[in-house]
Order: sequence, then C-alpha cells, then structure tokens
Amino acid sequence: MSYSRRQFIQTTASVGAGALIAGCVPGASSISHRPQFDLLIKGGRVIDGTGVAETLADVGIRDGRITALGMIDSTDAARVIDAKGMHVVPGFVDIHTHTDSAILRLPTADSKLRQGVTTEVGGADGESRAPRKSKGEDDEVLYSDFDGFFTHLQEKGSAQNFASMVGLGTVREVIVGEDDRPATPEEMEAMKHVVRTAIEQGCCGVSTGLEYTPGSFASTEELWELTKAAPEPFRLYSSHMRNEDNRVLEAIEEAIRIGRHSGARLQISHLKASYKVNWYKNEITLKMLDDAIAEGMEVHADRYPYIAYQTGLANLFPLWSRDGGTEQFMARLKDRTILDRIRPETLRKINGLGSWDSVMITSTTVEAHKTYIGKTIGQIATQLNVDPFEFSVDLMLKENGSVGMVGFGMDEEGTETILKWKNTIVSSDGGAYSPASKSNPHPRTYGTFPRAIAYYQKERNICSLPEMIRKMTSMPAQKIGLKDRGVIKQGNAADIVIFDYATIKDNATFLNPHQFPTGMPYVIVNGVPAVENNSITGALPGKVLRSSSFNR
Ligand SMILES: [Zn+2]
Repeated sequence: MSYSRRQFIQTTASVGAGALIAGCVPGASSISHRPQFDLLIKGGRVIDGTGVAETLADVGIRDGRITALGMIDSTDAARVIDAKGMHVVPGFVDIHTHTDSAILRLPTADSKLRQGVTTEVGGADGESRAPRKSKGEDDEVLYSDFDGFFTHLQEKGSAQNFASMVGLGTVREVIVGEDDRPATPEEMEAMKHVVRTAIEQGCCGVSTGLEYTPGSFASTEELWELTKAAPEPFRLYSSHMRNEDNRVLEAIEEAIRIGRHSGARLQISHLKASYKVNWYKNEITLKMLDDAIAEGMEVHADRYPYIAYQTGLANLFPLWSRDGGTEQFMARLKDRTILDRIRPETLRKINGLGSWDSVMITSTTVEAHKTYIGKTIGQIATQLNVDPFEFSVDLMLKENGSVGMVGFGMDEEGTETILKWKNTIVSSDGGAYSPASKSNPHPRTYGTFPRAIAYYQKERNICSLPEMIRKMTSMPAQKIGLKDRGVIKQGNAADIVIFDYATIKDNATFLNPHQFPTGMPYVIVNGVPAVENNSITGALPGKVLRSSSFNR
C-alpha cells in the first residue's frame, strides 16, 4: 500500500497529537510535554504601567511574552515565583542613560539592572557610540555606523534591552570636527545623510548636548535642520539644553523652537534650573512647556531624583576656553593672560552654585589624585592650603581635562515640582557600574528608580504609586515609540520588576555610591529572570531594539 503525500502528513500529525495527550496522563512519559508557562508570577499586586490602580493578578509568561493575566489556576508552569504581598510592575525604561560603552564591558549592567531597568536608551547628550572616526578612551572597538555597533552588541549579549538615539555632537565631530564655526552647505548635507542613515539602521531619535563641545557649536537652525532629517516616525529631539542655570529660559525657548521648526517630538533632558538665584524659574519652564503642548506639540521632560548633578569639571570653565578641543583648552589654561579672563567667569559659576564646597570630585584618571574623590574642591583647597581656582586649573592640566564632578545646585522643592509635572519621565542620566569599580559615580547610577518610589512617592507623596510607575514605564516607552513594552498586558514582552513597597529603598549615596537598592528581588527581561532573590543571575536575555521593536 502506498500513501499519497497528503495522507502521509495527516497520519504523522495524528500520531504526534496522540503522543502529546499521552504525555499529560499521570504516570505516562512526559517527555514531549511542555508546560503552559515558562514562568508564572503568582499572587502579586499588579500595577500595569498605564497609571490605573493595582489589581491582584497572576502573570503567565511563555517564550518571552506575557501570555496570560488574571487568576491563573494552572500550576502547569516550569517555574513559579511567589509574589504574594509584592508589587509586579513593567520593567523600567530608562530614557536618558550613558551605558553606551559600559554595556559592552559589563553586559549585566549591574547598577542599572539591580534598580529595575530593563530597557536602556543610549546615545544621550549629543553623544552616541556610532558613527565614529576614532576610538574614545573607553572604546575597544570603532564603529563606523550603527549597524556595526548594534550587531556587535547583539552578538555579545546584554542583560537589558538597548535602544539608541544618534548624537548630533557625534555627527558634528565626524563631519565638521572640533572647531567653533558654522557648517558649510556641503557639511550640512553630509550630516543630514549621517542622521538619516543612523535612523535607517535602527536609532529611535536624535539627541544634543549643547553644553558640550563640539555639539555646542551648532546653531539653532543647524539643529532643527538636522532633526528634520530624521525620517518620521523617528523624529524625536532629545536635548541636554544649551544652559540649565542663568539662561535656562532662553534654552527652553530654543528647544521649543527646534521642536516647532523640525516637527519633532520634544524631550527635555534632566530638566532643572540650577543655582539658587534661578530656582524660581522651575515653575516658569513648566509653564513654557505647557504652552507648547497647548500649541499642539508633544513635549516631555526627564529628571533624576537627586538635587546634585554630575558633569565634567571642564564645564566650570567658559565655553570659549574649550573651543577647538582638549589640546587647545589645555594650552589656554597654561597661558596666564588667558587665565586672567577665565578666572572671573569660572568664579561667577561657583558663586551661582554657592561655593567651592558645592563641587565634589567624583572621578580622576591619575592614580595619585584618587584621594580627591568624594571630597569637595573647597575641602581639598583648605587641606592643601591652596587657592581653589588655581587647584582646579592645575588638576585639569594634570588630568588632561578629564575630571568628573557633582555640583549641589538644585533645590528639593524645585525637584518635586519637576518630578510631579504631568509629562516628566523618571530617568537616571547614568551609566552602568559594578561594585568592583573604583570610580565614584553619581548615586543615580544605582538608585534612581527605587529612590523615586521610596522617597518621592512613598515618603514625600508627590503623586500616586501607579502614576510614579507610569513615569518609569509606559510614558518613556511611548515616547520613544516602543510598541510592546512599558505596560503589563497580554502579548507584550515580559519585562517585569517585582518589588516590596514596604522595604524598597535606594542605598547609594554621593560618598558611597556602589550600593544596590533593597526590596527589589526580581528583574525579569524578555521572560528570563536577570535578577532573582536580589542576585544577578548572569542571564543575558536583552535585545537590541531596532525598527521592528517600534510602532512609531
Ligand atoms: Zn546631559
């Protein structure tokens, strides 16, 4: 007897089905049985990320996605996590990070993962990992375009998902160089081409860092022209503005103009009004952003929940003194005549901050200077009995310009006003570190998200818990256009954080930053526990999020 091909297939299919049923009979071989869920989170208080109140629900996960939600009787799961009494929320989407190089060196991104970040958005402040012409200090590999970077990152693997913007500072550096001059028409075309290519290769927007060279040398018009080059639906303009203190209102105005002229969705990075004399401007900036929204623009801001900011010590020196790159900056610092012009401008910044005690050194490259880390320039100058300005210049010269600092320049009230604003996203502005690191990073690199929950929501009660969770999940996910993340919902990617509201706490401080938070025992990325029982598992379930992950 001979089978037709059609019959043969039918017969095989029925035998297969029979074997599957037999596998479910107790005592029978279970070799072909696959549980309904890879992971089942039982009994948790689910806050779905949209801002609505919590519900008691189980979450069933299969193949990296949420496949069931509600009272799930089935114990047919390969693994069950008992979340009774704990909150189950979407993984945090960190819209402004500096993990671009770190994630390659430290794929588990310890300080970020342990605080619940399941998606990192890199390429912030005008600086991205690609395209580059030369390698930075931190870089092992040079990527001439985003295809190279994204492919390499996917191959190496990461615990978290990673998306990136393309930095317009990086683009200017590659095409125009380090000089303070307008781009020629040819250079403009070349830069537009770089932006278009980056978006085509999977970037989700453009960013600027207008207090950093050479990005700061771009005119307002250059910025809106380049932003416009980003094809829709990826025309997101994320800006570290030209100024965040005495001229912050002008800077907000410029950001809105760029949004208006380019038709971009606007994202103001780490929104703040620094220095006491400017604190009253927080309310005004929010009013300006509200007006832009009323005009029909899409405007959001992000903010880290701390009152000190972190930057390079170089930023205390006037922009003109840094024109042309590090070499020329160093040459000017050695020239006493030029230094006489630099000094009053730097001292004006210090006055605005309060004093040299508001400037704390956080990183140095020269070994002998490591003892300065964690001290303020005021303290060091007193100790060494030197002039704090002369000390700073000397340190810059010996460190070839790369010294990290934090400035205590913000107020609690303004921080709460900004965090409370309806379109403010909670974001770390931080890189990824492991406690083995000898550096002294801003505590936000370890504590941003637990701190926003434990301090600003629970203790200060600036908004409801579901609203605070929304600011960390669906709001940033929608902003960059992620189609299936940021909300706990059937069909979405299973990025999930489980925390205990009673005990959640950030532990990192400015003097002791390498401290993981408490009360956040599970972080699940694409259905796989990357943190369990407060430990990093070493699993690398993260994905590089390129065009197919976006719906905008
Ligand atoms: Zn920034």
